Amino acid sequence: MDLSYILNELGEERDQYYNAVSPPVMQSSNFAFNTVADMRSAMSDEFDATLYSRGQNPTLNILRKKLAALDGAGDALLFSSGIAAISTSVLALVKQGDHVVCVENPYSWTDKLFRHLLPKFGISTTFVTGTALSDFEDAAKPNTRLIYLESPNTFTYELQDLEAVARFAKARGIITIIDNSYCTPLFQQPIKLGIDLVAQSATKYIGGHSDVMAGVVTGSCELIRQIFEHEFMNLGPALSPHSAWLLLRGLRTLPLRLQRSFESTQVITNWLAQHDNIDTVLWPFSTTFPQFELAHEQMQGCGGLFSIALKNSSYAKIEAFCNSLQHMLIAVSWGGHESLVMPAIASIPPEKYDVDNPRHQYIRVYIGLEEPQYLINDMQQALEKVKLLETVYS
Ligand SMILES: *Cc1c(COP(=O)(O)O)cnc(C)c1O
Repeated sequence: MDLSYILNELGEERDQYYNAVSPPVMQSSNFAFNTVADMRSAMSDEFDATLYSRGQNPTLNILRKKLAALDGAGDALLFSSGIAAISTSVLALVKQGDHVVCVENPYSWTDKLFRHLLPKFGISTTFVTGTALSDFEDAAKPNTRLIYLESPNTFTYELQDLEAVARFAKARGIITIIDNSYCTPLFQQPIKLGIDLVAQSATKYIGGHSDVMAGVVTGSCELIRQIFEHEFMNLGPALSPHSAWLLLRGLRTLPLRLQRSFESTQVITNWLAQHDNIDTVLWPFSTTFPQFELAHEQMQGCGGLFSIALKNSSYAKIEAFCNSLQHMLIAVSWGGHESLVMPAIASIPPEKYDVDNPRHQYIRVYIGLEEPQYLINDMQQALEKVKLLETVYS
């Protein structure tokens, strides 16, 4: 299916709403029937019926079709947040006594799902580096039900060979799910590589304007229905129609925004890599990235999120750099129009800072839609301030 068709036409039955170009926000929790027989028919299969908005809603269904098509998936399910999409789907796929293999250092609340929530229900998890297929082969047990991937992750960017992991999992009857928020379906299509389910925080690139929280999971009709019929309807993480409308609007410009973020990041990471005060630039499409080749094999482009470490990094220097930025904001999240920084030390108290641990030194940077030179100038003056700090101390 053409990308332009998906983003501009698919799912939009305009003759049903006065040929409005922008679809209506169907702000209704409830939908009425002409006859009891019609109601009975809807109630017998809520997955495909417009009955009650905790299940399906017409505005959401337009978005549902587009997001499924973007991933080349049978169907999609929308959620009120990315983590709701991940937690609800995982809960739907595992039961007491099952085992999960998960990549190390996934998104923080995904990590907590496997470390705190699932053990309460007798589900255990082995964490693996995931950069080699043997990590998964060695960790899999007879009761392994699920392999959880995030490629690349959003702090240190380790990749998994998606095709190889999917092949291994299929042979063993293990379901695979990936968090694809970093790439979006435009830069990586895991289902085409054999992965079963794809989750995204739509709060990030899909929404794209830092004004909506949402999540999505795509996969085969059977798996999406399985997630919907029990855990989704019981836990109730439904997306609001207004949020769905904001995501539809975001989707129209996704290719432009993603390409801009990608291209600016190329320019900015190149500039940073040659800067005297920068020790490390970690970004999957950097020529120095350890998995550069795999990144180019399975990704068609790269998100605008990367991490840097300052030369002779220290707690004070990291704080000085971030606090000195005049345009880039200090914040969590990413994927919006605005550029951001998030240093690891935001969650490490000074007495726990380990100068020899690169993970403590990293400053995560997100490049939004501003002019690259505007951002370079901002980082340049912040790096000057760090240099001044060095002179003061020496
Ligand atoms: C933000 C994020 C999530 C969680 O999504 P929310 O919409 O914040 O619930 C999951 N995975 C990744 C990689 C993220 O960046």
